[in-house]
Amino acid sequence: MAEIKLKNLNIEFGSFKAVDNVDLIVKDGEFVVYLGPSGCGKTTTLRSIAGLVKATSGDILFDGKRVNDLSASERNIAMVFQFVSLYPHLKIRQNIVFPLKARGVAKAEIARKLDWVTEVFKLGDDLDRYPGALPPGARQKVALARAVIRDPAVLLLDEPLSAIDEQFREEMRWELGHLQRQLGVTTIYVTHDQREAMSLADRIVLMSDGRIVQVGEADQIFYNPVNMFAGQFIGSPSMNLIDLRPAEGGLTLGASGVHLSPERDGLPVWAMNSRRPLKLGIRPLNVELVDDDHQGPSLDIAVDDVFSVGRERFFTFHLGDQIHQGVDKRKTVGSTGRVRFAPEGFLFFDTETGRRAAPEV
Ligand code: ATP
Repeated sequence: MAEIKLKNLNIEFGSFKAVDNVDLIVKDGEFVVYLGPSGCGKTTTLRSIAGLVKATSGDILFDGKRVNDLSASERNIAMVFQFVSLYPHLKIRQNIVFPLKARGVAKAEIARKLDWVTEVFKLGDDLDRYPGALPPGARQKVALARAVIRDPAVLLLDEPLSAIDEQFREEMRWELGHLQRQLGVTTIYVTHDQREAMSLADRIVLMSDGRIVQVGEADQIFYNPVNMFAGQFIGSPSMNLIDLRPAEGGLTLGASGVHLSPERDGLPVWAMNSRRPLKLGIRPLNVELVDDDHQGPSLDIAVDDVFSVGRERFFTFHLGDQIHQGVDKRKTVGSTGRVRFAPEGFLFFDTETGRRAAPEV
């Protein structure tokens, strides 16, 4: 097992910068998930750690030792990709022990290791079957078993579950997290699926355009996003963003005309006095339906649509030409409703820079 350190890592393809000045420490035994939209540089970063892509500049260190100039096979890493490549003509047991046989490991040691991964991955029933007889989820488990059988220092996983049916993916995700904790192997996992990231990661590394936007536990990014991108990328349904307009003694919410004041509505005084235009970020869970006679800032809306995510029911509505989402906890919404914007869910962003707005000092 190893601690991985990336120092000022830059990776360029011609004039294009795929990874831009990345600094990161992945702790020994940690499960870190690289999350971000397609093309943001996740796979390139992973491949550079694996030794499959050369860093243009910067350092990659395993336990303090610079590995930039080591080949992939010298780095003691194991990598599993989206599409599994098992040998179809070999039984599962032969597939799993292949990396050990290739290295000339002694028979008794191979048998011991096979017993170990068979137990950990619960593969006993499948050992004498051929890959073609297994569903994709089970094949991916075999690929993982083959990856860890030689005790790699680092496990690198690139969207390993995305080719698996949704129905099995959830189960595999749970199993993968459980296995990683059991094995304690330092793991970096790449995905563009925020649900996957939130359920697996000790820490999430959120990337955009080759740069790290934010590093933290899922909850930290969810409750404390550093900018609008982080706020909107994490959390489903996505965070609402509403323009705030200056008004006498407070601010109004976009086109709604709903007035927020510091005394009554929990609007911070610094936000009211901000000289820069702000947007309110508020998660759908904090846009709640209230009774018609609700006291305090609320707004009558026309409901456009209703949908469910897990056990929660959400609805969409318009403010001007912007679509927003709220939660229907009582599951009673009809074609109209009255919503309240809960101040405990207020996040403020600088409209121009996108960054989280803070009191000016
Ligand atoms: P995805 O989930 O789509 O794979 P990603 O975040 O993993 O996205 P990368 O595969 O790391 O993104 O790619 C980052 C950028 O670098 C993309 O614009 C991609 O086209 C570019 N890129 C990657 N490899 C090369 C290469 N060998 N030559 C040129 N450009 C490349």
